[in-house]
Amino acid sequence: MRLGKTAVVLGGSAAGLCSAGALAPYFDRVLVLERDELPAGAEHRRGVPQSKHPHFLLNSGRRAIGALFDGFEADLIAAGGLHLMPSMDAAYLDGAGWSARKRSAMTMVYSSRILIERVLRDKVRELADVEIREGTAVTGLTTRDGGITGVAFTTSEGDEHIDADLVVDALGRGSSVSAWLAAAGWPEPETRTLDAKVTYTSRWYELPAPRPATWWWRHLVIMPTPDKGEHPAEHEYLVNFFPVEGNRVIACMGSWGLDMPRTTDAFVETARRVRTPMFAAAMDRCAPTSEVHLTRSTGNKWRRYDRLRTPPKGLVFVGDSICAFNPFYAQGISSAAGSALLLRDHLARAGRLDAKFSAKFLAAQRKLLAVPWSLAMARDQGYACAEGTEKPREWKRRILAAVSAPAFSLIVGAAREDEVVDEHFAKVFNLDESLGDMLRNPRVIAGLVRYRVRAALGRHRVPFDFDAQAEPPATDYSTATAR
Ligand SMILES: Cc1cc2nc3c(=O)[nH]c(=O)nc-3n(C[C@H](O)[C@H](O)[C@H](O)COP(=O)(O)OP(=O)(O)OC[C@H]3O[C@@H](n4cnc5c(N)ncnc54)[C@H](O)[C@@H]3O)c2cc1C
Repeated sequence: MRLGKTAVVLGGSAAGLCSAGALAPYFDRVLVLERDELPAGAEHRRGVPQSKHPHFLLNSGRRAIGALFDGFEADLIAAGGLHLMPSMDAAYLDGAGWSARKRSAMTMVYSSRILIERVLRDKVRELADVEIREGTAVTGLTTRDGGITGVAFTTSEGDEHIDADLVVDALGRGSSVSAWLAAAGWPEPETRTLDAKVTYTSRWYELPAPRPATWWWRHLVIMPTPDKGEHPAEHEYLVNFFPVEGNRVIACMGSWGLDMPRTTDAFVETARRVRTPMFAAAMDRCAPTSEVHLTRSTGNKWRRYDRLRTPPKGLVFVGDSICAFNPFYAQGISSAAGSALLLRDHLARAGRLDAKFSAKFLAAQRKLLAVPWSLAMARDQGYACAEGTEKPREWKRRILAAVSAPAFSLIVGAAREDEVVDEHFAKVFNLDESLGDMLRNPRVIAGLVRYRVRAALGRHRVPFDFDAQAEPPATDYSTATAR
């Protein structure tokens, strides 16, 4: 059923493209307005600087995009995306040393952010009534009687305006829509923030051919140290040697509140001081293909449009424009795709696009966003460097800091030995279950307690903490786990 003549999507990145897929069945035409000129292939562009850094596509996001665009996953893999099982294909340095390899239910598709966007863009271009207008900068909204009636934009030809029955704000973190609404008389939405001062620094490399014989792994991950004592600052880094299409990897170091290297020399030097020499050794075997890219645009930010007394009719928000996260948790694209799918479900049930529709969608979206948001808060609120409206009182922060890292290690340890804990942990990581629901599950609690007791008695089923200074062990410990 058609709900209107024209829907306009502001921004043609991940959230905008997913939204176009959600809107297509319900409008005569959908226009996506994008400021950048878009590349034909998988290339970086000005409006999406974060694409230089690794992007994990969580399984909830992969499914949501697949529900919006038939064949998305197959196309991503055909274009070079890698279908891997992280527990078997990733060397994971957690706790004091390397974890054991073992099979698990969770597989993931690895690719670059630019490839995800290229495949999405191709999918949108296949839709008959959807048009992507490039080189088009949105400059404002037109409003009447508590609703949005159109969009103002500018192109090389000059200023234009288009009437719209529904507008989707997918302009990302820097969206000006709340300011345009304020200029039209709406109150500024309450904005929740917590910037844990996360910095990412990344450099792209080409893998050697053939791969070194000891590299059973495709992805190398180094978690920040659990060591509370004196250690080099680099031991606090989260490190990824992240495989992407085209026989390439993105070497990335991230930290909460620390200075990170900006130059190629400093990048290589710093890499030698992380918790294992294997990261720098791996980089040494590869050929660099980029400069060093650094970003600090990583704070959690949730614009609570759902709390406006009278949210604007004819306007919805998808992606970073409404809720952006600390990228450490890899939730951005999946939350955007989840919101777009939710929008499609609401459009399918909507008789008309009135104030009730906007309020109902915002309420449902609030519930959806609360899951990734609480996960980000659970850890970021423990960092002393974090600033924002969600900064907890110092006593609460200290409790969180003291509890969250050991709780995380307990869950990771138990997941290694217990398939049920592993399944639920994978669901939480992939935004298929909330942390609260997992921790209320009696079977998970039993698994955690059992693991704790076994650990206290020194009776681990699966060995761990393999020497961090040596190569990660290739042995497969799959048979050592229990249901
Ligand atoms: C370092 C880093 C690592 C990350 N890692 C992950 C990860 O592992 N997994 C994950 O899921 N997410 C990750 N994210 C988050 C992810 O990048 C974002 O959530 C996602 O890209 C948001 O997409 P978006 O479409 O909402 O916004 P954006 O990608 O920011 O797109 C906004 C679009 O709007 C356009 N635009 C802006 N202004 C105008 C205008 N006036 N007129 C027209 N067009 C305009 C821009 O050109 C751009 O195309 C990471 C983010 C960062 C910073």
